[in-house]
Amino acid sequence: MWVSELILGEDHWEMAVELSITETREEAERLSKNATGQKLVMNLGRPSVEVQVGAITHHFYEGDIIILEISKEKRAKMGPPIDVTQPGSIDKITKCLEEKDPAYTIEREDMVPSSLTLADFLRDKGEGYRPDSLAYGAHELTQENCRHVIGVAGAASIRRIDDPNVEAHIRDVQYFVANTARKQVPHPGFFNLMKFCPHCGVELNKEANERAYQEKVAELGGF
Ligand SMILES: [Zn+2]
Repeated sequence: MWVSELILGEDHWEMAVELSITETREEAERLSKNATGQKLVMNLGRPSVEVQVGAITHHFYEGDIIILEISKEKRAKMGPPIDVTQPGSIDKITKCLEEKDPAYTIEREDMVPSSLTLADFLRDKGEGYRPDSLAYGAHELTQENCRHVIGVAGAASIRRIDDPNVEAHIRDVQYFVANTARKQVPHPGFFNLMKFCPHCGVELNKEANERAYQEKVAELGGF
């Protein structure tokens, strides 16, 4: 299985959006190259990245995205931006790249998980903001690199119980239960936990996840 992904970002950060899991590398690359129109939006009341893949609009939520940033140590070593309007700047850039000048090149290990969430970006950049796309890609899915999906909460895949989508779904269900007798309220969709990760097939601790979910429901006031 292959992961089709789109890398968005600028300045000091990047977001890896897992578009889809596919059977073949070709399919993963094709999907990723067809991804366009990315923007930050609220969808179903939750922060999301909207992406068009072909004719279809997809929304990716907090748990579907990995946000990385350039480490503080690396930022301290980075040089000032090169002014490309100045003569000789292109030669300078070429030289930096050829010599892998650490002040102007970023390696994989310079990127570290960010404490910023999608909600932070939406607040900071505003709804409708369009981050640049830095790369399209595909990588092979293994049980080691898989970010296991443990269940679904309404429209969102979840990877852990403390995913904000779980809390949002519990609140949607509470609202539904409290109001559906008196007015038309859209059904919030179902919450389901899985026994095996649908992406890589690893066995999950469904019982522990179920307990954690029940605790979360109780913590938020029950149904
Ligand atoms: Zn998995």
